Amino acid sequence: MSRTIQDRFTLLNGRIKAACRNCNRNPEEISLIAVSKTKPDEDVRALMDAGQVHFGENRVQALTKRFETLNDPAVQWHFIGTLQTNKIKYMAHRVNWIQSVHKSKALVEIDRRALEAGRVINTLIQVNISQEDQKSGCEPEELPGLLKQAQQMKHLRVLGLMGMATFTDDPEKVRPEFRILRSLRDEHLFMNEGSVNLKHLSMGMTNDLEVAVEEGSTMLRVGTAIFGSRNYG
Ligand SMILES: *Cc1c(COP(=O)(O)O)cnc(C)c1O
Repeated sequence: MSRTIQDRFTLLNGRIKAACRNCNRNPEEISLIAVSKTKPDEDVRALMDAGQVHFGENRVQALTKRFETLNDPAVQWHFIGTLQTNKIKYMAHRVNWIQSVHKSKALVEIDRRALEAGRVINTLIQVNISQEDQKSGCEPEELPGLLKQAQQMKHLRVLGLMGMATFTDDPEKVRPEFRILRSLRDEHLFMNEGSVNLKHLSMGMTNDLEVAVEEGSTMLRVGTAIFGSRNYG
């Protein structure tokens, strides 16, 4: 394994443990999603060999390529990018988690394609929590309708909410956004029924993971802190 990835991975795990200690959380409640977008297969393979289970990609084409080149059944693949309904069919045979569901049509299509593939796909509903103009995710008011619809679906589960915070260097600026996501989850716990079980909060990336852990994150999506900086993507 390349020395730098090993070092970064060790450092990152230390950061997560320290963040948990600071707020009395059990690190086992938190999954680390290694966001491998744009990085070479060999870097991803090195991390798999080190025991990392969860990996995330934000483009369907990049994800399906990984399915072929890194064909390890123990690995859980997460789709975390902007979800286009017409691309769901390309990943339904293998993707374990789709974190960026934000509309009814996508729920229907995931359920249908997962049925065809004889699978059950885990999903999160992405909610728009950022102040930025370029919004992603559903509006909070749309949540009850989406959850109601998902309760009856047999080939997907909705296991929580995902949020992308405002892009900023100051992690304290994103704390209120993480709080909003957590409150939304708590306010909708009464909808846990059938295929809906809102136990996860996917929030926190390289720059703001400590704040996200303090605010209740159960899934950290981390790229840069593991794989180094990216030129694009
Ligand atoms: C790239 C990406 C991340 C990881 O960002 P880093 O700052 O590199 O840790 C997390 N979530 C999503 C949706 C991303 O696209």
